[in-house]
Amino acid sequence: MRFRDGGLDLSHDEQALRDAVAQTAEKSFRPLADAWGERDELNWELARALGREGLFPRLVPRAYGGSLEGPFRSVTLCLIREELARTCAPAEELFAIQGLGSHPILLAGTEAQKARWLPSLASGESVPAFALTEPGAGSDAAAIATRAELRGDYWALTGEKHFISNAPVASLYVVFARTGSAPGTKGLSAFVVPKDAPGLTGAPMHIGRAPDCELVLKDSRVSRRHARLQARGGVLVLTDLGSTNGTRVNGHRITEMVLGAGDRIHVGETTIVVDGSGVPARP
Ligand SMILES: Cc1cc2nc3c(=O)[nH]c(=O)nc-3n(C[C@H](O)[C@H](O)[C@H](O)COP(=O)(O)OP(=O)(O)OC[C@H]3O[C@@H](n4cnc5c(N)ncnc54)[C@H](O)[C@@H]3O)c2cc1C
Repeated sequence: MRFRDGGLDLSHDEQALRDAVAQTAEKSFRPLADAWGERDELNWELARALGREGLFPRLVPRAYGGSLEGPFRSVTLCLIREELARTCAPAEELFAIQGLGSHPILLAGTEAQKARWLPSLASGESVPAFALTEPGAGSDAAAIATRAELRGDYWALTGEKHFISNAPVASLYVVFARTGSAPGTKGLSAFVVPKDAPGLTGAPMHIGRAPDCELVLKDSRVSRRHARLQARGGVLVLTDLGSTNGTRVNGHRITEMVLGAGDRIHVGETTIVVDGSGVPARP
């Protein structure tokens, strides 16, 4: 049985999920956010609550400590984010960034990368950062100038990112960089850079509620085996983020050009269904 709700057909399960998220946000998240106030630091108590109450686990498959079963559904994500935003915006922001950082690994990571990073992201014990934007590459993400060079058994990344949410406290950075001479998105790849990678420094920027900073990578070395996310370079990651998770990523427009409603993308064991129905309109 499906119900019509603000222009979108919701199943019983989707309605129940929406109501459960609203209740949890009211009872467990809002008090923590209110007590925290406007401090420009990461609210770790709230992050752990999002793990404990089962929200972060929804971003990660069971095999890696989460609760995600089957394909990643954009309607589910939209319902969760809409309810969190309605009741507790800081919780929504944490959830969004957790998705931005974990999704590329889920989508294109090796088994070793998933096993290493996803469990602590599911529990809220650690947070990621998603490093796409650069001083010369904002809306035009294809203009990224950060470079990654393969030298023996490591990649060396050099470049500058800014406006990177969670960056001062993240345990890992998903960094987009250029690996070859191909122009635009064709030459881009995503890398997982651990926080303790050599040559990685940051400077606070204070642009939003989440702690954010500028990131400078100077010959920052990451192991060849564990750094690069392999699935078809950056293009797939950008387009998928636009359809599922990336409200602040310009992948939205790229997605609309490349993918249509009902399209399915298969990467390893993950199937992403492009829903195309957008965020449900609610009064
Ligand atoms: C609070 C906050 C948190 C953020 N967190 C992250 C993060 O975690 N990771 C990350 O990678 N990035 C992050 N960003 C960066 C964000 O993705 C960029 O700000 C965004 O992509 C826009 O880029 P820009 O700021 O360089 O603006 P620009 O690209 O310079 O755009 C400026 C204005 O020009 C308009 N414009 C641009 N191109 C055109 C065009 N061709 N035609 C007409 N109008 C145009 C835009 O719509 C915009 O209004 C964050 C930004 C904010 C504000």
